[in-house]
Amino acid sequence: MRVGITSTIPLEIVLAAGHTLVDLNNVFMASPSPAALVEAAERSGFPRTSCGWIKGIYGALKELRPVDAVVAVTGGDCSNTHALAETLVLDGMAIIPFSYPAERSRELLEAEMERFASAFGVTLRMAEEARRSIEPLRRKLDELDRLLAAGVLPAADYHLLALSASDLASDPASYERELDSALRAARRARPRRDGLPVALLGVPPIITDLFDLLEDASLRVVFDEIPRQFAMTWREGDIVEQYLAYTYPYGMSGRMMDIRRECALRGVKAVVHYTQSFCFRGIEDVVLRRLVGLPVLTVEGDAPAAGDERLRLRVESFAEVVAGG
Ligand code: SF4
Repeated sequence: MRVGITSTIPLEIVLAAGHTLVDLNNVFMASPSPAALVEAAERSGFPRTSCGWIKGIYGALKELRPVDAVVAVTGGDCSNTHALAETLVLDGMAIIPFSYPAERSRELLEAEMERFASAFGVTLRMAEEARRSIEPLRRKLDELDRLLAAGVLPAADYHLLALSASDLASDPASYERELDSALRAARRARPRRDGLPVALLGVPPIITDLFDLLEDASLRVVFDEIPRQFAMTWREGDIVEQYLAYTYPYGMSGRMMDIRRECALRGVKAVVHYTQSFCFRGIEDVVLRRLVGLPVLTVEGDAPAAGDERLRLRVESFAEVVAGG
């Protein structure tokens, strides 16, 4: 069975059950015309004033029919997922819920993961074995993250590779070959010292050329927060601890310790915070600005398209101000 996901879930459970994971965000953005999928969702009645990612996922499901069932993350992810799942049920799609507990507790998360595993007819012990089998991929993703921090791996390349960790590109073996090839190329490259080291925080940008815009303004991304979270490169004791260490479900305050530590380790001088139009996470910008202790540029995107001239100018003036300060 092909199992669609809209966000990071304990993928080892789905692998242990012998199914193929398909990250619907990646299906949406990799399609020949992501904008057409957003329009398809709007034709089905999705409001213009709703998140482009949600509309793109719905459009992809409707137009491309890439999966047999969808895992809906009903807690600790996106409030819009509830309405999306409700709509999909009416469309006849099988929905399997998963929820990150509101309280960051091992006991609660373990119980939810056990429930999720039993929905797939497997146990957490079987998922633990699947976890061990993909451990080499996580080690390679960790090395790629260190090469990004060292200025060796282009940020756009890291971003795509790490985002694909959410579903292991639907094929762990070919994904590992892709990681190997990126590692071989990066190990041969010279570290870059130019540009201002910055962190990219927030949900994955829908703006297709954001990395080019940042590069053109001499902003060099050395920390790409959310894709690194998806890659889960930390070494925790077991599968429950691995998902307990995942910060994304716990709001900006829950993410802040990881953000501050990595920014300090990588010599980050400023933060680019990507927010999505009509996303509740945009409000987290207020918390970020209060807690991060670095200059922040907030970039908002709406539809899958290149950034406009106004955005280019904002990025350039931010870079000048920070470099001059
Ligand atoms: S950008 Fe925000 S509203 Fe859109 S899918 Fe992600 S979390 Fe949900």
